Amino acid sequence: MIKIDHISKKFGNNEVLKDISMQINKGDVVTIIGPSGSGKSTLLRCMNLLETPTCGAIYINGVDITDKKTNIMAVRQNIGMVFQHFNLFPHMTVLGNMTYAPIHVKGISKAEAEAKALELLDRVGLKEKADQYPSRLSGGQKQRVAIARSLAMEPEIMLFDEPTSALDPEMVKEVLQVIKDLAHTGITMALVTHEMGFAREVADRICFIDGGKLIEETGPAEFFQKPKTERAQAFLDKII
Ligand code: ADP
Ligand code: MG
Repeated sequence: MIKIDHISKKFGNNEVLKDISMQINKGDVVTIIGPSGSGKSTLLRCMNLLETPTCGAIYINGVDITDKKTNIMAVRQNIGMVFQHFNLFPHMTVLGNMTYAPIHVKGISKAEAEAKALELLDRVGLKEKADQYPSRLSGGQKQRVAIARSLAMEPEIMLFDEPTSALDPEMVKEVLQVIKDLAHTGITMALVTHEMGFAREVADRICFIDGGKLIEETGPAEFFQKPKTERAQAFLDKII
């Protein structure tokens, strides 16, 4: 589903991704772990071309999205992205947030978009908040709406960049639960997280990144018990 083929990324002279190759199969959940500044967000942002790799190629469903001839807007419609900060539209209700892109980008009817939105809000436990404005929601509720809003576009791929890092501790669990419920339902997921227990439980594979390099790619049980590399072990020793 996602094939990253020898990509590098430079910001000026600063090479922040160095010859990274990886593949995420359809329906798989891959978590990306590594120290701050190691290039995790940049890698994730390359997957929907919010950042353009300096060299290398990225294939989504076999289409090279780094090819200038590719219609990136069409590709992006198929890729949901959830950030640390929820980026809800403050001047729209929850329902307005959820239906805006389906109506204006996908062109489905308002009635259909609203029905779908309510179903998704129900799934994340927030149906009763449909008519509220984001300012009236807690951080955890905002992030659940942001996830539901991405799902309203029916993407095949979801990218999560530290979706719980900006939340108060008591709200982390409810958001992780929503992501957990979504995992292994057919959607392909790449997730940057510092929630190690969650990564261990949910991921099919852990990609450990340090200094812009993919240092190792391992199954979760093995990664947390006995990673292949000393660098991963040193990282785990610091945080666990
Ligand atoms: P992580 O998500 O692992 O903390 P990032 O991918 O955000 O790391 O950043 C990796 C490196 O790239 C950092 O040194 C950061 O300063 C740099 N960087 C990220 N985005 C930009 C940008 N838009 N312009 C210049 N440098 C950037
Ligand atoms: Mg980051």
